[in-house]
This record gives sequence, C-alpha cells and structure tokens, in this order.
Amino acid sequence: MAATAESVLKPDFQTRRKHFIFTDEHEQLRESITNFAVKELAPHAEEWEETTFPDWVFTRMGELGFLGLDKPEQYGGQGGDYFSAMVLGEAIAHANCGGLAMGVAVQTDMAMPPILAFGTEEQKQQWVVPAIKGEKILCLGITEPDAGSDVKGIKTRAVRDGDEYVINGSKTFITNGHRAHLIVLVTKTDPDAGYDGFSLFLVPMDAPGVIREEKLKKLGMHASDTALLAFQDVRVPASALLGQEGKGFYHIMWELQGERMIGAAGSLAGAQRCFDRTLAYAKEREAFGKAIGHFQVIRHKFAEMATKIEAARQLVYVTAWRFANGEYPVREISMAKLFASRVAVEVADECIQIHGGAGYMKEYNVERAWRDARLNRIGAGTDEIMLEVIGRSYGL
Ligand SMILES: Cc1cc2nc3c(=O)[nH]c(=O)nc-3n(C[C@H](O)[C@H](O)[C@H](O)COP(=O)(O)OP(=O)(O)OC[C@H]3O[C@@H](n4cnc5c(N)ncnc54)[C@H](O)[C@@H]3O)c2cc1C
Repeated sequence: MAATAESVLKPDFQTRRKHFIFTDEHEQLRESITNFAVKELAPHAEEWEETTFPDWVFTRMGELGFLGLDKPEQYGGQGGDYFSAMVLGEAIAHANCGGLAMGVAVQTDMAMPPILAFGTEEQKQQWVVPAIKGEKILCLGITEPDAGSDVKGIKTRAVRDGDEYVINGSKTFITNGHRAHLIVLVTKTDPDAGYDGFSLFLVPMDAPGVIREEKLKKLGMHASDTALLAFQDVRVPASALLGQEGKGFYHIMWELQGERMIGAAGSLAGAQRCFDRTLAYAKEREAFGKAIGHFQVIRHKFAEMATKIEAARQLVYVTAWRFANGEYPVREISMAKLFASRVAVEVADECIQIHGGAGYMKEYNVERAWRDARLNRIGAGTDEIMLEVIGRSYGL
C-alpha cells in the first residue's frame, strides 16, 4: 500500500497486522485456541505447577480438534496446513503453563509426525486416530542417561527373536513418560552399523518389562511429567517396528526438525507474553513519582526486547514458511531454534528485572516464565548442538 500524507505523518504503531504466513482463518483459529487456553486452562495453571496437568486436557483438546490441526482428515485431523500447528504452538502460551504446552507439543509435533510419516496404515489407525482424539497419550524416547546430544551413543538394544523383538535399555527426561500409553522408542538394532544401525519401535507403555521409574524433579516446566524409564526384556511383535529397520537415525533426525520449529514458535510466543505483561506493569508501577516505563533506561529495555522478539519472529516465520513449502532448511531451523530460545530467556530475565522484587515473587509469573523458557536452550538439541549444525553446514 502506498504511503499517504496521513500515514507518513502518523506511524501506525497500534495497528494489529497479521504476518504474511497467516490467513484470516489462522487468526480465527488463534482466537479460539486463545479463548480456550484463557478460560479452561489458565485458571488451573498454578495448581498444575504442583500436580502436573491432568489427562482430561488431552481429551478436551481432542474434542475441540486442536490435536490434529495439521493432520490428515482420514485419521480424524483437521487437514490444515503447517501454519495451523504453529498457531497452536503459539496460542497455547495463553495457558500460562509451559509444562502443559510442552506435553501437548510432544503429542502433536514430536510423537505423532514420525508415525504419520513412516508408519503402516495399521499403526496409524491404532495410534494416530486415538491420539488425535486425545484418548491415547504419546511420548518420544531418544535421550538416555549416557547419551543425549550424542544420539549415536544410545545403548537401548532391540534384538530380533523370531516374530518379535526384545528390547533392553533405559530412557531419561521423557516428557509425558508417566502418563503415556505409547512410546516412540529409538533403539539400536545393529550396533556395528553406525548410523545405519538404528530402528524406531512403537512400544505400548503397558507392555511387560516397561518400568516407569521416578518422576524427575526439575527447575521449571513443573506442570509436565518427566520420566526415567527402563525396558527390561520388553517383547514387541515385528509389526511394532516403525519405518525401515536400520533407518531410525535418519527418521529421528527428520522428526527433530519439526520439534525444533515448534519449540521456536513456543519460545517466541512465551517471549511476547512476558513482554506484554511486563509492559502493562511498567505503565502502572510508579517510582520517584512516575511510571517506571518512562525512565529512559527502562524504555530502552523494552525497545531492545521488542527488537529481538521481532527479529526472532521473522526468522521463525520465514523458516516455517520454507519448511511448509517443501524445503528442508535444517540450517535455518537450527538458527530459529537457537535464536528464539535465547531471546525468550533474555526477555524473561529482563522482565524479572523490570518487575524488581515483584519479579522474584511467584505471584507475578515472570519467574516461572524464565524457568520454563530456560529449558528451550537445552531440549530438542542444546544451543551448542544448534551451533554445531549451523557451523558444519558451512563445511567447517
Ligand atoms: C524437561 C526436559 C524434557 C525433555 N523431554 C525429552 C523427551 O520427551 N524425549 C527425549 O528423548 N528427550 C527429552 N529431553 C532431553 C533433551 O533433549 C536433552 O537433555 C538434550 O538433548 C541434551 O542432552 P543431555 O541432557 O544428555 O546433555 P549432554 O549431551 O550431556 O550435554 C551436556 C553439555 O555438553 C554440551 N555438548 C554436548 N555435545 C557437544 C558438542 N558436540 N559440542 C559442544 N557442546 C556439546 C551440551 O550442549 C551441553 O551443554 C528433555 C530434557 C528436559 C530437561
């Protein structure tokens, strides 16, 4: 649109403009997820920090169609595009409950995509259909006590025995691990075959030999459940193999790209929520006779934060656009994940500072925002691993 005399004279700071990747339908979806989060989830956020969020959240979200927004209609999904998944990843931030957002993302953007991408029709009917309804809860097991960043170093073994595989090993830090009905499990089927020795399995969590050990205590994301799991002579039929035997490493590296993208969207939304709440506080809280937001030093903090958030937004959205349009921009996904999660932590930290002592108190929720955001620099690949992926992509 050409600048008119009026628009040149008057910057449109107050205009709410949607980004080009989102349509009016996406914005309506954003509104309905936000309303749901504000009315049905946020009122319980504090309680769920103590108890973890209840399973009815999955069934309710299934009922509303929110667990299958970008999933095919033939499995009960809404058949929407990738950006609808991004909208969920962002709007769920209004639940004020990072642990809940993470538990849901594990269901929709970590465990379900590999079943849809590599699974047989039978596996999709058995697990994806009820998962979209929220009747079955899923988790994803990559990390082990002795191998996190170094996925190649995992030790969980699956050994063929007639028509079955026998699985032994352990997984740790597994989100949804205590409540899940199914784990998408990364194993080694041929330890001598390097990257070609990995295989994925769909393991029911009630199979004999699956042991859910202690609930792990953590810095933030308290509303999510985080499990240490053991697998002792767990027998699964050969039909539980997900995708091609020996190709599990490549399958899981593909899965991680979507997980990082949605994590980046969540970080961005968390940063924006924290910024908005703190802005309102800075306009109200007075010191030395004026609202603290009017001290230049505080005003500049907001300017810095807003600039970083906007830069993260453009990187995340444009990368999502490329991903949704069939490209596989691993370098930019790593950049988006790295940058957005760093920005979220920096913003939350600055917001605590702007709140002063109140920022250190639980009542204002900014300390929780910081604790929750802090995970995103570690989970789904640490900052250092993102830097490795980016650096190596230049042939270094
Ligand atoms: C709350 C929470 C939920 C999680 N949920 C899940 C889940 O649902 N499923 C799942 O499978 N995993 C999950 N994880 C695990 C998470 O993905 C790992 O913690 C993460 O990948 C890092 O692995 P690690 O903890 O073993 O750290 P390590 O790999 O031991 O890394 C330790 C440090 O060394 C650095 N480092 C490692 N290798 C390199 C290198 N090559 N170059 C430079 N620095 C390096 C790391 O960046 C880090 O700073 C979760 C973790 C947490 C904390």
